[in-house]
Amino acid sequence: MRDSGGNISGVSAIKEISTGSCSKKKYFRKYDTSYLEFGFIWCGNESEPKPQCVVCYELLANECMKPAKLKRHLETKHSSLKSKLVEYFQRCVEQTNKEIKVVSNADSVTKKALETLYRKEREGPFYR
Ligand SMILES: [Zn+2]
Repeated sequence: MRDSGGNISGVSAIKEISTGSCSKKKYFRKYDTSYLEFGFIWCGNESEPKPQCVVCYELLANECMKPAKLKRHLETKHSSLKSKLVEYFQRCVEQTNKEIKVVSNADSVTKKALETLYRKEREGPFYR
């Protein structure tokens, strides 16, 4: 609630909360679209986003949501991709989104069928 006058309602409530607990206010880092340059998208809750690598799908903690950490992941785990342009990761994301959409809409039986299909695709030339 916000009053346009000098009186701000809710102040007492805020005071109660801040004095009620001595723990630090938890701060969550927000995702920035520029992080895609390091091959990261975000995953999970919007108020507590977690950086996810589009190459190996590794999910990092929210406190890793900063360029230095993301860059280090890219440099140590995917050193061959560090010179890739953001467009490369963009394509990875599109591919990932497509697969996630397909899989999340499917029930477990269809999922199994899809897995088999992917495997067949991968083993293409060897599949009879
Ligand atoms: Zn990775």
